[in-house]
Amino acid sequence: MNLNIAVIAGDGIGPEIVREARKVLDRVFARFGHTAVYTDVLMGGASIDACGVPLTDEAIETCRRSDAVLMGSIGGDPRTSPWYRLDPTLRPEAGLLKIRKALGLYANLRPAYLFQELAESCPLAAREGGRSFDLIIVRELTGGLYFGERWTKVIDGQRVACDTLTYSEGEIRRVMKTAFEIARKRQGRVCSVDKANVLDSSRLWRAVAEEVAAGYPDVSLSHMFVDNAAMQLVLNPEQFDVVVTENMFGDILSDEAAEITGSIGMLSSASLNETGFGLYEPAHGSAPDIAGKNVANPIATILSAAMMLRYSFGLQEEAEAIENAVRKTLSDGFRSHDLMPRGRDADLTGLTAQSCSEMGDRVAERI
Ligand code: NAD
Repeated sequence: MNLNIAVIAGDGIGPEIVREARKVLDRVFARFGHTAVYTDVLMGGASIDACGVPLTDEAIETCRRSDAVLMGSIGGDPRTSPWYRLDPTLRPEAGLLKIRKALGLYANLRPAYLFQELAESCPLAAREGGRSFDLIIVRELTGGLYFGERWTKVIDGQRVACDTLTYSEGEIRRVMKTAFEIARKRQGRVCSVDKANVLDSSRLWRAVAEEVAAGYPDVSLSHMFVDNAAMQLVLNPEQFDVVVTENMFGDILSDEAAEITGSIGMLSSASLNETGFGLYEPAHGSAPDIAGKNVANPIATILSAAMMLRYSFGLQEEAEAIENAVRKTLSDGFRSHDLMPRGRDADLTGLTAQSCSEMGDRVAERI
């Protein structure tokens, strides 16, 4: 295949981790006989510095013309960076909202799984002595509470604020279909999370989920209230395969799911539209505290590149080659700095600390 990939390195550790993901991708392309053209695109703080805005129309067009977008992360330290003295619509994060909207990226995929090699860093492990889970949260990304009508005004002498949560059946159906298609490629189980005992929008959500499920007899559907889902993720994450939910519930649950893995530097994410076009990025931010030091963990970005191969290009074997290489790197004892055990016994673990670029080398040479 000939692939056109737009690359948004971004801010902070973004350029360092994207460099390693490209290193691994190049190895995969050489091994499997594909060619790729990368086009660099500015977004976030880097775009503010160069163009005065977090995302230009030209940058959006470049992404639109590509087959997929690979991103590092954007943003700086809000306490010290001059970007955060700008109007909120001109800050780095505004670029992310704009690109999601412009490209129609309505489904956010956030896998959360436990690498057995890192099981000791899972906060649930201590309590039950060993865990194994592998789930993916599909979060609706362009509707719901974050995009509803909102206002603040004074009524009867006191300030009143209102946010609205609106969904059309079309918006629910398309994200539901994405979840069912993904379940088909996994263990065939969808859990739809809502608050249908209280919210009208959730009752519609549940009804549409049932309608979509009728077209997927090979996939099972269950429903769970969001408060229970928050508990179950901590109590028994093994029960989940694909979790699909609306924007705000998904925002909260996907961060909770990330935390129970104990390794934020390992988690990838994808945002997709109806055609399978996607933007792929790590779940973590731009980590300004360690930027430029070559100590960041590039694995979340490398695994995001694997998701890109699987979901936008249908290159299953190539995606697995990356995932297996990451696993082998860990089982061979290589760790980025964030994954090294802390404390007195760290020297006795037999693990080898690696810089960001060395970690990229270790994965690439295992493809
Ligand atoms: P963060 O994820 O950047 O960092 C939180 C902590 O995790 C820090 O101590 C950091 O050093 C560490 N960390 C994160 N990624 C790491 C990695 N790959 N390797 C090793 N350590 C890593 O979150 P934050 O500090 O809250 O946010 C920093 C900036 O990132 C902010 O400007 C925020 O808006 C932005 N952000 C961007 C995105 C995105 O681009 N999609 C997402 C979240 C946050």
